[in-house]
Amino acid sequence: MSFTVAIDGPAAAGKGTISKGVAAHFGFAHLDTGLLYRAVGRRTLEGMAPIAAAKALTAEELARGDLRTAEIAQSASKVAVIPEVRAALIDFQRSFACRAGGAVLDGRDIGTVICPNAEVKLFVTASSEVRAERRYLELSAKGADVTPDQVLTDVRERDVRDAERSTAPMKPADDAVLLDTSDLSIEDALAKAVAFIAEKLPATS
Ligand code: C5P
Repeated sequence: MSFTVAIDGPAAAGKGTISKGVAAHFGFAHLDTGLLYRAVGRRTLEGMAPIAAAKALTAEELARGDLRTAEIAQSASKVAVIPEVRAALIDFQRSFACRAGGAVLDGRDIGTVICPNAEVKLFVTASSEVRAERRYLELSAKGADVTPDQVLTDVRERDVRDAERSTAPMKPADDAVLLDTSDLSIEDALAKAVAFIAEKLPATS
């Protein structure tokens, strides 16, 4: 039986942590779809054409080095506006979503485009200031040379690019439940998501 949880929302809203926690709680597989765009973004920074990079993407490429840098994030959001890049990544995401045993996918267009029939759709948000502060702490803990202001500017630039592109813009699906994590601890945000998903799970006899 497949059971798909779609978790969308802007950068550093808490989607990743919530998705991992939900997957661990229910024993579902988890795919961070941002990594696909980041891997294409990195290839592009290395000089490859984005569409060719998306078509040639492999699991090894996703596992190579650190994809979570500020530079790769910006490049990812630039290649993500290209319709052919998005199209090349659809099949992989849909097959992942349909695997037996349940799957959680987090991204920007999971509930709207990749899995419009997902059993559960969450849209996780937080204010841009809160998100930038979280991302700043994450990046500086890794030793990245960034300032809080730079990170806020980056987050806002990506928000605008992600929300305003014409193909698969970031937006809540009509049937998504909104979860604002601005004033929630990780534990509380995860508990809310788990409770909501538990209600939607088919009853086992
Ligand atoms: O989620 P993350 O910050 O890693 O995503 C990096 C970029 O990849 C996003 O800013 C967005 O432009 C793009 N992306 C997307 N669709 C997804 C996941 C990520 O366009 N499903």
